[in-house]
Amino acid sequence: MVAVSGFILLATALWCRGAQAQNTTSSTSPAAAVTAANTCAQLASSLGTSIVQTQSSGPEYSIGANFAWSTFNDEVNFQPTCIVFPNTTEHVQTAMKAIFQNKAEYSVQAGGHSGMTGWNTVENGILISFINMNSTSYDSQSDTITLLPGIHWGDATSALQQYGVAPVGGRVATVGTGLLLGGGISYLSPAEGYAADNYVSLDVVLVNGTLVTATVDNEYADLFKALKGGGNRFGIYPNSSSEAVLAALAHFVHDTTNPNAVLASTIRTTWENNSSPEIELDIVLVYNGTEASFNQSFAEFLSIPYTSIAVQPLSYLDLLEAVTFPDGLGTLFGASALTGVPVNSSIEQYLETYRLYNNFTTTFASSPDIAFTLLDFSPVPRSQIQAGYEKGTNPIVPPLGTGGYHEILFQVTYLEGVTQPSEDVEEGRQFWIANAPSTPGLPFFLNEADANQEVFATYGGYKFLKQVYAKYDPTRFNVEHTQGPLGL
Ligand SMILES: Cc1cc2nc3c(=O)[nH]c(=O)nc-3n(C[C@H](O)[C@H](O)[C@H](O)COP(=O)(O)OP(=O)(O)OC[C@H]3O[C@@H](n4cnc5c(N)ncnc54)[C@H](O)[C@@H]3O)c2cc1C
Repeated sequence: MVAVSGFILLATALWCRGAQAQNTTSSTSPAAAVTAANTCAQLASSLGTSIVQTQSSGPEYSIGANFAWSTFNDEVNFQPTCIVFPNTTEHVQTAMKAIFQNKAEYSVQAGGHSGMTGWNTVENGILISFINMNSTSYDSQSDTITLLPGIHWGDATSALQQYGVAPVGGRVATVGTGLLLGGGISYLSPAEGYAADNYVSLDVVLVNGTLVTATVDNEYADLFKALKGGGNRFGIYPNSSSEAVLAALAHFVHDTTNPNAVLASTIRTTWENNSSPEIELDIVLVYNGTEASFNQSFAEFLSIPYTSIAVQPLSYLDLLEAVTFPDGLGTLFGASALTGVPVNSSIEQYLETYRLYNNFTTTFASSPDIAFTLLDFSPVPRSQIQAGYEKGTNPIVPPLGTGGYHEILFQVTYLEGVTQPSEDVEEGRQFWIANAPSTPGLPFFLNEADANQEVFATYGGYKFLKQVYAKYDPTRFNVEHTQGPLGL
C-alpha cells in the first residue's frame, strides 16, 4: 500500500445552513408508459426476471429505485417501469437494442450521485442500474486499471491499495464512475489531468446496442475523446480501462500565477468581516510532500485565523474517506468558473460570488426545508490543463493561457423528508446561477452544474462534440429519450 503524507490544496468550502431544489418527476406521455411496459416485458422474456425487475415483482427493484444519492431521484418521485440489473456487457447491449428499437424512455445509473433531478432515473421508462457490475482489477503488465461502472471510488481505491496504485477518481469515497463522464476532478488531477484524461480504452454500447471499443488511436478515437467530458450522450460504458497511477503522484507548484492566491485573499477579506453566524468555513489543503513544504506552499491559507486545524499524514484511501456528505437528502447543484490570475483584477468577482451565496444563505437560513448550502472552490491548476493536453486532449479543453482557475459549485441540500423543492428557494437558487460571475472562455464543470445550464457551450471543444454526437447518434435518440446535458 502506498502511504501518502499529504497533497494539494483541493477544495475550499464555505458551509452554512440553508437551501433547496427544482422539479422532480419527468412528465412523459401515456404512450411512453405503454412503450416502456412492452419493452420491459420483452426484456424480461429475453434476460429473465431476476435481471429485469418491476415494482410489483422484483425483490431488488426498491433497492435500485432508491439507490440515488439525492432523494429527488428516488422511488417517491420516479418509478421506473422496470429496472434492468445487467451482469454483463451483453445484457447492456440487449437492453439498449430493445430500448432503441421500441423508442422507449430510459436512464442509466452507476454510483447514483448526480445532483440533477431525472438524470439517473426515469418515469415511464427503463432504468439500467449497474449495482451488480461493480468490480475493479489491475493488470501489472500493462499497468492499467479496469473499472466496471457500478463501483464506487472508495471501493476501487481500497481494492487496488495492495498493488500500490490508485485510480484517478473522485475525492469522496461514495461517488461513482459517472464522474468520468464530466471529466472528473480528483486529488490526483493536478498531476494527472481530469480523471477521464487517463482512459486507455473504453467499451461503449452505442445507442443502437452495438458494442465498440474506443482508444486514442483506433477508428473510434473521436468517440474516445468525446467521452472525456461528453456526459451520458454518447452511449453506455460497461467498462473502462485507465492508466494506473501511484497514489502519491500529485504535486503542487505554488507560484504567482496560481489561482489559489486570489482565493486565499478572498477568504481573508470575507472572513475577517463575516457577520453571518450560519456560515462556517472549511478549507481542505492536500499536499504530497513534507510538512515544511506544506506550510510554505499554503502559508496564505494557514495565516487566516481559524478555530481548529488538523494536519496529518493520510493514505490515499484515508483521504477519500476524510470528507463525507450526508446521503438521503434532496440536493441540487449550480456551477460557475473564475480565474484568479492576475490577483488584483479578479478578486472582486470572487467576492461577488461569495456575496450572492451569503445573501441566499442568510435569506433561507430559517427555511423549514433546508439542511445546508455549500459554496465550493476546486482549483484547476495549469498543470492539470497541461496534463490533459499531453494525454490527447478532451472536449472540455480549458485554455492554458489563464494559468489555472476555479470550478465553483453552489449546492443546496434539503432536509430529510422533503420530496419537492420549494418555489421560493428555487427562485433564489436560480438567481445565484444567473448572476454568479464567471470568466469568459472558461468551461463549466458538468459534474457540478444545474440540469439547465448549457455546460457544453462553454467547452473549448463544443463544435467537435456536436460533430461526434451527430455521427454516433444520427437519429438523436439519446437527446430525445434520456435526460442529460443540453446543447447537442
Ligand atoms: C458528495 C459528492 C462528492 C462529489 N465529489 C466529486 C469529485 O470529487 N470530483 C468530481 O469530479 N465530481 C464529484 N462529484 C460530482 C459527481 O462526479 C457527479 O455527480 C457524477 O455524475 C456522479 O457519478 P455517479 O456514478 O455517482 O452518479 P450517477 O448519478 O449514477 O451517474 C451520473 C450521470 O452519468 C450517467 N452514467 C453513469 N454511468 C454511466 C455509464 N456507464 N454509461 C452511461 N451513462 C452513465 C447517469 O445516467 C447520470 O446522468 C461529487 C458529487 C457528490 C454528490
